[in-house]
Amino acid sequence: MASARIDLDGNPIKPLTICMIGAGGFIGSHLCEKLLAETPHTLLAVDVYNDKIKHLLEPSGSGSGSGSSSPWADRIQFHRLNIKNDSRLEGLIKMADLTVNLAAICTPADYNTRPLDTIYSNFIDALPVVKYCSENGKRLIHFSTCEVYGKTIGCFLPKDSPLRQDPDYFVLKEDASPCIFGPIEKQRWSYACAKQLIERLIYAEGAENGLEFTIVRPFNWIGPRMDFIPGIDGPSEGVPRVLACFSNNLLRHEPLKLVDGGESQRTFVYIKDAIEAVLLMIENPARANGHIFNVGNPNNEVTVRQLAEMMTQVYAKVSEETPLDSPTIDVSSKEFYGEGYDDSDKRIPDMTIINKQLGWNPKTSLWDLLESTLTYQHRTYAEAIKKATSKPLAS
Ligand code: NAD
Ligand code: UDP
Repeated sequence: MASARIDLDGNPIKPLTICMIGAGGFIGSHLCEKLLAETPHTLLAVDVYNDKIKHLLEPSGSGSGSGSSSPWADRIQFHRLNIKNDSRLEGLIKMADLTVNLAAICTPADYNTRPLDTIYSNFIDALPVVKYCSENGKRLIHFSTCEVYGKTIGCFLPKDSPLRQDPDYFVLKEDASPCIFGPIEKQRWSYACAKQLIERLIYAEGAENGLEFTIVRPFNWIGPRMDFIPGIDGPSEGVPRVLACFSNNLLRHEPLKLVDGGESQRTFVYIKDAIEAVLLMIENPARANGHIFNVGNPNNEVTVRQLAEMMTQVYAKVSEETPLDSPTIDVSSKEFYGEGYDDSDKRIPDMTIINKQLGWNPKTSLWDLLESTLTYQHRTYAEAIKKATSKPLAS
């Protein structure tokens, strides 16, 4: 643990108590690890699950009562609660200096198939968190999404328009880009729309009631512990985000499924780089309050097809297995996600604001982040998949 930490302006950082809601998820687990290992801050970790932070709660090799404890045992408390309906939430927010809200339904397969749950989770369930922070004068870091930008202006131009090459038509800027969603029957946009409305509400709480807030817009953060592998540590029929879908296909020696030709473009950032940005926000309130930050890696842009090709190559290297002759297969979005799916065409974050306020830049190349992530996936899941697929079928 670091002793005298100083902020970007040279001031000492006081140890904080942080209420982290959604601490048991992908981003939460990495943020907990970072805060415990590198800072003196204390965590009130709230979630309905804790599998991804078990290693932080129970020191390896010591069951309860064994006497040995981790160096941070007194700095993390897990509270298993559902923020939808638990009166303990306000007390936890009051005990903390800062609340970080990560809780959400945030897998695209849910947006068009469970739009009500998606809207409730991303808007209604976040309302009390905002209210308790505002009423109790507590700072809030709220996780939104790059998806609030929706589609780029450029995608509405004719295919051969030279303006499509002009960054003004596709680079996404916090303080300038519009939010462009599809029609209501394209229920894909239920998530983006709910996130946009909660952003507007938080912004208004800041403007009218003085809430100290920071809004984070993650651009495809990926790495170990993201989502689940269907049939291993999640439902067999579940559809996680693209990293876990493609990992699952690679682990099972199946072709990777390219939705609608895999033409959509994404920029991927390594979770460990992105967590550095969140730590800067936590420890530099004077620079982070009142801001919305894009957090992504504009240098790691690929089409989904290129991502599939690169993951196939990287997986062959880390697993020492030969790739399939036809490593990808095309599927329609209707077949893969069902009615009401739609897609963001391209997501390049403008980095001006986060650079100016926090001096943050992502470091890890796409190849390197895939290599460490797929090494983790192979180590964690290859045996379990082998066992699951070698089981004789019940007669
Ligand atoms: P995740 O699904 O791994 O984590 C979310 C966590 O919130 C889960 O552990 C879940 O159990 C918990 N949760 C959900 N509803 C809850 C409730 N009612 N009460 C208590 N806990 C609840 O997702 P993640 O990738 O870690 O994303 C975290 C946040 O970042 C989300 O708000 C998401 O919208 C946003 N985000 C992430 C990405 C990304 O690239 N990973 C991109 C855009 C936005
Ligand atoms: N996708 C795909 N095959 C899959 C899973 C996802 O082609 O097995 C595509 C999806 O249609 C989208 C992109 O990959 O264009 C990224 O999907 P993800 O679920 O990670 O979330 P998004 O970036 O759309 O929020």
